[in-house]
Amino acid sequence: MHPRESGRFRDETVQKDPDDILRDDRAYVWHPFTWMPRYLAREALVITGAEGIYLIAADGRPFMDGTASMWLNVHGHNRPEIREAIVAQLDRFAHVSVFGQTHAPAAELARRLVEVTAAGLNHVFYSDDGATAVEVALKLAFQHAQIRGETNRTKFLALRHAYHGDTLGAVSVGDIEHFHHAFRPLLFECIHAPSPGCAHCELGRDMTYCEIACLDELEKIMARQAAHLCAFVVEPIVQGAAGMLVAKEGYLRGARDLCTRHGVPMIADEVFTGFGRTGRMFACEHEDVSPDILCLAKGLTGGTIPLAATLTTDRIYEAFLGDDPARCTFFHGHSYTANPLACAAALASLDVFEKDDTLAHVQALEKMIASDAERFRKLPHASGVRFKGLVFAFDVVADEAPLKPYDASERMGQKVCDAAMTRGLLIRPLGDTVYLVPPLVTTEAQLRQMLDIVHDAVREVTG
Ligand SMILES: *Cc1c(COP(=O)(O)O)cnc(C)c1O
Repeated sequence: MHPRESGRFRDETVQKDPDDILRDDRAYVWHPFTWMPRYLAREALVITGAEGIYLIAADGRPFMDGTASMWLNVHGHNRPEIREAIVAQLDRFAHVSVFGQTHAPAAELARRLVEVTAAGLNHVFYSDDGATAVEVALKLAFQHAQIRGETNRTKFLALRHAYHGDTLGAVSVGDIEHFHHAFRPLLFECIHAPSPGCAHCELGRDMTYCEIACLDELEKIMARQAAHLCAFVVEPIVQGAAGMLVAKEGYLRGARDLCTRHGVPMIADEVFTGFGRTGRMFACEHEDVSPDILCLAKGLTGGTIPLAATLTTDRIYEAFLGDDPARCTFFHGHSYTANPLACAAALASLDVFEKDDTLAHVQALEKMIASDAERFRKLPHASGVRFKGLVFAFDVVADEAPLKPYDASERMGQKVCDAAMTRGLLIRPLGDTVYLVPPLVTTEAQLRQMLDIVHDAVREVTG
């Protein structure tokens, strides 16, 4: 049913006048990742409702949520099972601390997360966002080395074009020049290994013949640096913010083996790839990899309330059980850690995965994308068509052979997204990379519609 006809939106009469909302917004709200003069020069979209895969604008127009509201939403907006779990917890209490005490949603969710993640990850440290999940992972890895007396281990190894969030630790291991350059003087030392994303291969290999050359580079770095590394940080299978770069098959398994051989803990940042996005519950499962530390956020609550978790092994946890509290306490914690409403939402979301058979659904959608990819490859201004699970991306380019990007000032990626918006699909570009990352609950018919819109938008904008 069309969302406007379902009658589940709040009564229009109790909603604020969109003009009042816009006036307050323009006067007071400073938007993230936004150059405000450009934002203020446009009429911003005011969202007044959300249902399933649709966002409803103040003027009543429905838009398909092609980015799952910043890569978060899993089971659709306003999913009744999750809503009811939050409301039921709200009837008990909204928030109490887990500093030195506990509550049922935190304890039960920790058990469920240990059950659903790779074998070996047995301990859960909660925080609030993807960046904090990563921050926790970095500090844990560092302090773990310190406790073990390996005081030379002070550096991190990460991937080129990595994105791990916006707090300073996460920015230190990140490598997106455009986002990170302003903060360079504040950052700690991190070595970057070549990205395994074939679409933008920096080693200039042809993916058909390549035998994972980036893994050889990783091995060289590890051989030289292992004794100085507290961890290798990786976004498994898909590097999201880098441009939805899909790694060469075998890279992750190879990287895990190198970490094991060189005694370097592996931190898998599944903030984006976790909870079904790639067609498995966690991307590490594609290559049967168990990391030493796993970062989860975004889809953890189905995309409803901020919550993050950092999981780790007995080995790392037990190092912190030593008898010197000054050395063996992990001094980290956020005031809203393990918020009970968020934990309740996460538990309900895990149940919906089973009820909907979400993973099988995503695998079917991936097959659909695979059979449609050729249509995009044939577009003269689309290059590097790539997909995994319910992630689909390509780059809009001035020329395909030889590859020539558009001048950044043309903002072609943004223009394609603007053209999609007039057709009822909300997407945001990453530079000139155009991508679809809709809620996992998206039906085949809806996905077909999204792909058609994107195809039409590229043709319109590139002439
Ligand atoms: C989004 C993202 C983060 C940061 O998560 P926030 O909740 O935005 O802080 C970290 N790592 C990856 C891989 C991400 O995609």
